[in-house]
Amino acid sequence: MKRLIIASNNEHKVKEIKAILAEFPFEIVSLKEAGIDIDVEEDGSTFMENAYKKAYEIFRLAKDSMVLSDDSGLMVDALGGEPGVYSARFAGEHGNDAKNNEKLLELLKGKPFEERGARFVSAIVLILDENRIIKVEGDIKGVVKEELSGRGGFGYDPLFYVPKMNKTFGELSEQDKNEISHRARALQKLKEELKNTL
Ligand code: IMP
Repeated sequence: MKRLIIASNNEHKVKEIKAILAEFPFEIVSLKEAGIDIDVEEDGSTFMENAYKKAYEIFRLAKDSMVLSDDSGLMVDALGGEPGVYSARFAGEHGNDAKNNEKLLELLKGKPFEERGARFVSAIVLILDENRIIKVEGDIKGVVKEELSGRGGFGYDPLFYVPKMNKTFGELSEQDKNEISHRARALQKLKEELKNTL
């Protein structure tokens, strides 16, 4: 079975991607499971640039495997699209979700519901081989809540309220998040392209 490495050290992301791509006949492994210990510097100015960089660097290290990477984040309207590509290190320290959420709440303090709009974006790159590269993007709109709700997911999930579900991502089951999230939408497009490619 062909191996697909997910170029991420974020266990939550890896779990979501594995669940959504489970129908494909690939052995899907994380970086850790592939024995690759590397942190690719995310210095691009767009999600897609960073996703491509991560996928390509890992692909060079693991030549006979396919590589998939996701670069994602939250774009808040009232902050001119920030934290965007800096979502993971918004408050300084990489991956400190509690601090990032605290900073976001502080910056939006006092803003009414109508001014708390935001969008999660996921850019995904799949390198099948040297000549076949698929790039897709997905997004979902929501509203940044005034307090944390729910313990599911990761990152900004407890603050990201989706009006049509009347819940935050943090309150959704894993299955429900994986049906509507930015990552799920990008992966849905990827699946369509893969079906035409394989
Ligand atoms: P990346 O690993 O550089 O793509 O950073 C992604 C960052 O964006 C994470 O650390 C989270 O802060 C945020 N993020 C991306 N996707 C999600 C999600 O599905 N839920 C919550 N936060 C997310």
